[in-house]
Amino acid sequence: MAKIVCVLYEDPVDGYPTSYPRDDVPALSHYPGGQTVPSPKAIDFKPGTLLGSVSGELGLRKFLEGLGHTLIVTSDKDGPNSRLERELPDTDIVISQPFWPAYLTRERIAKAPRLKLAITAGIGSDHVDLQAAIERGITVAEVTFSNSISVSEHAVMMILSLVRNYIPSWQWVGKGGWNIADCVARSYDLEGMNAGVLAAGRIGQAVLRRLAPFDVKLHYTDRHRLSPAMEKELKVTWHPTVESLVQVCDVVSIHCPLHPETEHLFNDTLLAKMKRGSYIVNTARGKICDRDAIVRALKSGQLAGYAGDVWFPQPPPQDHPWRTMPHHGMTPHTSGTSLSAQARYAAGTREILECWFEHRPIRNEYLIVDGGKLAGAGAHSYSPGDATGGSAQAARFKKH
Ligand code: NDP
Repeated sequence: MAKIVCVLYEDPVDGYPTSYPRDDVPALSHYPGGQTVPSPKAIDFKPGTLLGSVSGELGLRKFLEGLGHTLIVTSDKDGPNSRLERELPDTDIVISQPFWPAYLTRERIAKAPRLKLAITAGIGSDHVDLQAAIERGITVAEVTFSNSISVSEHAVMMILSLVRNYIPSWQWVGKGGWNIADCVARSYDLEGMNAGVLAAGRIGQAVLRRLAPFDVKLHYTDRHRLSPAMEKELKVTWHPTVESLVQVCDVVSIHCPLHPETEHLFNDTLLAKMKRGSYIVNTARGKICDRDAIVRALKSGQLAGYAGDVWFPQPPPQDHPWRTMPHHGMTPHTSGTSLSAQARYAAGTREILECWFEHRPIRNEYLIVDGGKLAGAGAHSYSPGDATGGSAQAARFKKH
């Protein structure tokens, strides 16, 4: 029988909800392009309820305990005395969400000799040292596409919020003001601007499609170029390098995974190549941007705004400068964990577990590492290596 440790974010400060604003969430059968949504044999939760926090347990307890396995659910994940670290020595499976990542560094993997499967309930497995997982033969799987559209909606919301100066305007109302000039002195129309995505994968393409009706000029770069037919359909201009992309764009939205090729890609040098007054929205991973270079660019005016929901580490310490830098629209990591998305990735996590326990293959598109190498979606979109360096800093959040 297996021991499964599931690391989830904390319940709401005023307790686990007893009611919700809506009675249902739309039931989807396919994602754009045809991939089917997760299809476990059954689910033991009501879609539209809070599954991603500790009391929601991703709806897994009945299923796992019914098979005789042990399920431990905790939010205590950082530092050597954390529950996660104490449980690792006899844990077989770790489940984690990127929003509140259980960083599986090489050191932690060494402390978990029985660990065979690391599931990302969501998308983005950079919180696992993929190189160490490759070497140890650990399978890493995620629920590809489960929250891609959720993130694309969020990215477009943040682009509009920055360009139109929404958040400071909202704040004036709360302060009792009617300060129109203060609000609009930084407010523009998106129409006619050049907007680009770094990576035209599932999220990047969805962002392009959602931006098109705003009559912007669209651009992208990616490791693999889209087909000519797709470029024509999206009316998007290809750039062979990220430098070429950022030089023409007023708005850049980041949608590649974090791996050694993309770590700290947006540094002082790249930011200096952008047009003065550009906007960056980053809903991919915080570490794709150099933390302090972003602050410098906002202070100097090189960037007019920066927004996103991804930080490094997560949760970020109280003194993380992105909490207080000028002209930012940062939120906690929420874009991919709407109640709608939770229902899909909880079902996908169950599907992966059913396959694992029944010795059936996990869908290829869900695999990141398998059989001692990058596999499935991981082989397409990641490079081998490790992007978890510095994650121990997440323990500093506890001290506030
Ligand atoms: P996809 O795998 O569909 O797309 C990723 C794209 O990034 C691929 O097209 C890939 O290229 C491209 N890419 C990889 N490396 C590079 C590089 N060095 N330069 C340019 N392009 C590159 O994933 P999704 O679109 O679904 O998700 C993307 C990322 O978004 C996730 O990995 C995750 O980090 C983040 N995410 C954030 C969420 C949130 O809640 N904020 C939720 C979900 C995802 P190719 O495959 O052609 O090589």
